[in-house]
Amino acid sequence: MKFELPQLPYALDALAPTMSKQTLEFHHGKHLQAYVNNLNGMIAGTPFENADLETMIKQAEGAIFNNAGQVWNHTFFFNQFSAKPQAKPTGKLAEAIDKSFGSFDTFKEQFSKAAVGLFGSGWAFLAQNSDGTLAITQEQNAGNPLRKNQKPLLCCDVWEHAYYLDYQNRRPDFVGKFWDLVDWKVIESRF
Ligand code: MN
Repeated sequence: MKFELPQLPYALDALAPTMSKQTLEFHHGKHLQAYVNNLNGMIAGTPFENADLETMIKQAEGAIFNNAGQVWNHTFFFNQFSAKPQAKPTGKLAEAIDKSFGSFDTFKEQFSKAAVGLFGSGWAFLAQNSDGTLAITQEQNAGNPLRKNQKPLLCCDVWEHAYYLDYQNRRPDFVGKFWDLVDWKVIESRF
């Protein structure tokens, strides 16, 4: 399967100044493009040549896992933002968050702590366990909850390339502003 750079569902300057046009030009246009190109180049002639990303995330190791994971994670990341986001979860997702974390504010605190506290490069995820409860996970590098049979709902990229142009070394500032972009209508559709 030939993978292509997924289109952003908003203009490059739509999320500024929280996430600048320059950050999106590099993060989407250069970093994600490189993961797509790398993956296409390395799956030819392997058992994963015609596999989808989810299969590679669950079954591949090494470079194929890393690049497939990064293509999937970034697509999921960029698709969850909007210039005019729904600021809070409603309905069944809101109920599940309250049940698993106590309140939406407590969830945001715990998720932010996981994102800020992840050592090195990786991702924080909100994911659904097979018993229906929700969990916050820390994933190193290209990790993904799919590998642990959890269903991803929301993710925050804490690789330095995600925030360095706008926030330099201040990862907590980036994670704090991240919430202003998350469109909970999208997260509800994943639940
Ligand atoms: Mn990234």
